[in-house]
Order: sequence, then structure tokens, then C-alpha cells
Amino acid sequence: MSPALAARLAKHAHQHKYDHGHALIVAGGPGRGGAARLAARAALRVGAGLVTVGCPAEALTENAAQLTSVMLCALKGSAGLEDTLADPRIGALCLGPGLGLGTESRNMVRVALATRRAVVLDADALTSFSEAPRALFALLHGMAVLTPHEGEFRRLFPEQARHLGDDPRGERLDARREAVRAAAARSGAVVLLKGAVTLVADPSGHMIEQHLTGAAAAPWLATAGAGDVLAGLITGLLARGFSPVQAAEAGAWLHAAAARAVGPGLIAEDLPDALPTVFRELG
Ligand code: AMP
Ligand code: MG
Repeated sequence: MSPALAARLAKHAHQHKYDHGHALIVAGGPGRGGAARLAARAALRVGAGLVTVGCPAEALTENAAQLTSVMLCALKGSAGLEDTLADPRIGALCLGPGLGLGTESRNMVRVALATRRAVVLDADALTSFSEAPRALFALLHGMAVLTPHEGEFRRLFPEQARHLGDDPRGERLDARREAVRAAAARSGAVVLLKGAVTLVADPSGHMIEQHLTGAAAAPWLATAGAGDVLAGLITGLLARGFSPVQAAEAGAWLHAAAARAVGPGLIAEDLPDALPTVFRELG
């Protein structure tokens, strides 16, 4: 990460929360909100001024019991999302963690992309399009960041994943670079492929890598919810006004730094709470 990007990360340029951006995290129904709550906490810790979790009315009580600094709004399906996004102050949103699969999820992705807002698509938002990736590619734009793990990547980008071959541990780094670069070029979005080495590519071919190999905490990141935290970090940075490629780069860097700061034994909810330590060290 460049010194300029690092310096910008740890400093807030404004004094007012409304100037630090408003992120919307869309959650699934009752019993499926944990992933979105992790993303929301990460978005808040990374400095978004306001974070709202939008969820079906049936899930409001459950989310309210678990979230304090995060606002809640009832939002069901694509019509609900359209209404919520009528608020121009929402600068970035995250769709996918705990969202559920199916037509309604695809429609929500369509609504989000049609607004040209900065958006992170992860998990179920990506898998919902695995039968028809071209339908997604036709809608994507340069303000979108896709954050697949390897399985999600292979489902969404079967052609580009051919570069990966049979490499279950993700050891063939050149092949992974080739696959991610091709996926970003094909989709027109920033693509971040997760793994022991996380790769980010934008549609112009620009690439960034985040290596955590060798750190004692690295294998501990392979834990439930770690990816949801990363999606939230990137969403929070987009809300703060970072460009998609900068948000993806800085998000991956902060995620790794937070894992190092916590060390072995980490679970996903530790990662957002390690950010103040990481920021302190960034100066
Ligand atoms: P997800 O599968 O969506 O929960 O994302 C898993 C997260 O853990 C991603 O940020 C990966 O980059 C990270 N991760 C998974 N396996 C490893 C590993 N062996 N070493 C370091 N990080 C990993
Ligand atoms: Mg995930």
C-alpha cells in the first residue's frame, strides 16, 4: 500500500459524521443476519460516518438486539431496496453476506447496480448469478467491487477460472493473477479474489496483491465470517470516498493487518475491533 493511501486511511479529513459517508449493508431474514452484522461493524470501524443495516421487518428485533451504533431499517426485496436507495446520502452498499439465493437477490443486485452507487457484491449476491453470469456482467460498472472466494470465483467466472486449473490450495500464483485479471476485464468491475494471497484487479489490468503467507494468524483467517468483515471494510471505505480499487486494496491490507494484530485464536468478530490498534500504528 502506498504511503499516501496509508496516511489517508488513518485520518479523517472532516469533522462531521455526515461528511464521512453513509454505508448500507443489506441483510437476510431472521437467523441469517450474523454475516451482515459483521460487515456493518467493519464498515463502522473503518470510518464510515453512518452505517445502516437494512433487513426484512421480521429480522429487525434480532438485529436490534445485536447492534448498537448501527442504524436499522426495514427493507424487503428489490422494491424495499429501491425505496431505501432513494436517500441520496447512502454512498455505498454491500449485498451478499447472509442475503440468500434466488430471484429476489438477483433483483436486488440489479436495483443496486442501476443506481450506479459504489457497491460491494459478495457471497450470495455472486452465487445468485452463477447460472447466468453474463446477466450480471451486462450490468456491472466501474463502481462495483466483487469479492469472491475461490468457489464463488469458479462459479461466476468459469471461463476465466480455467487458468486456475486444479489448484485447491491456490499455490499457482501466476495462474491466479491471470484469472483475476481476465475476470476484471470481462466483468468491467474491480475483482478481489480471496485466499492465502488476496489478489485485486481492475478492468484496466492494474493489479495489487496482499500476502499473509507465513504469518501465524494466516490460517486462522480461514474462519466463518472473515470474508464478511472484508466486504464491510471495503464498503466502509467506499462510503468514505475511496475509489473502488483503493477501497479493495486498503480493505485487504487492513484485514490482514487486523489478523496480525489479533494473532492465532482470532475469530471474525475480533477483526473490526482490532482496527484502532492498526490505525494507531499507521499514525
Ligand atoms: P470467506 O471465505 O468469504 O469467509 O473469506 C475468507 C477470508 O479468509 C478471506 O479474506 C481470505 O483471504 C482469508 N483466508 C482464507 N484462507 C486463508 C489462508 N490460508 N491464509 C490467509 N488468509 C486466508
Ligand atoms: Mg464469504
